[in-house]
Amino acid sequence: MITFDSVSKRYPNGHEALVNLSFQLARGEMAFLTGHSGAGKSTLLKLVMQIEHPSRGQVFVDGQNLSRMRIGQIPYLRRKIGVVFQDHQLLFDRSVFDNVALPLVIEGMEPKEIKRRVQAALDKVGLLSKERLNPISLSGGEQQRVGIARAVVNKPPLLLADEPTGNLDPMLSRDIMHLFEQFNQVGVSVLIATHDLALISRLRHRMLTLGQGRLLQDGFVGEVGV
Ligand code: ADP
Ligand code: ADP
Repeated sequence: MITFDSVSKRYPNGHEALVNLSFQLARGEMAFLTGHSGAGKSTLLKLVMQIEHPSRGQVFVDGQNLSRMRIGQIPYLRRKIGVVFQDHQLLFDRSVFDNVALPLVIEGMEPKEIKRRVQAALDKVGLLSKERLNPISLSGGEQQRVGIARAVVNKPPLLLADEPTGNLDPMLSRDIMHLFEQFNQVGVSVLIATHDLALISRLRHRMLTLGQGRLLQDGFVGEVGV
């Protein structure tokens, strides 16, 4: 689903955020991306989303070489990728339903199909009963669930998350990780950047560790000493 082939990323100020990075995330695989602040985790995710571009090497997503992609194709790539942010980026001027519906409205989907899809996504995150509320009235954990529903509503084959539990307490964080596992179990490929090693130490998944833009470790949680 994701291939990095000898990828380096140097920002215009000269800082090298990723150095000769190679790895693959298989279709249907779930992995954590860890490392200290500044290790390059967000940069890696931005390269997958085509928000940033490699200085050297190649990135492939779902078999497509991103450096060969025309600008007009980028929206189609983004539709294949659901993204969950630490601060969920919900809009507080509209309901939970309308927040989750947004990606489908942008695609121009039929209202009837939008309703079915949004309700299915809200049901999966346990928030169907709150579809009419404004997200501002929800707890932090519930707001993050709305963010996840919005990320999966158009059934992307790939789900990316950047510190999705950064603002949540340990119990809510475990619930959120469990949700990601459930999407993975129905075939979605999942890559989650987190520096919360205590949280993932009990989850049996692959863990890629970055340090100063290099891949330091690649193994299963537990095997690599976490
Ligand atoms: P992480 O997500 O692991 O905290 P980042 O990918 O955000 O790491 O950052 C990796 C390094 O690249 C850091 O040293 C950061 O300061 C630098 N960096 C990130 N974005 C930019 C940018 N737009 N311009 C210059 N340097 C950047
Ligand atoms: P279908 O369209 O197959 O009838 P539903 O619309 O009932 O399925 O369920 C759609 C929900 O499935 C999405 O809103 C989302 O919660 C979840 N989902 C997300 N990505 C996938 C995927 N790749 N495969 C299966 N289900 C997914």
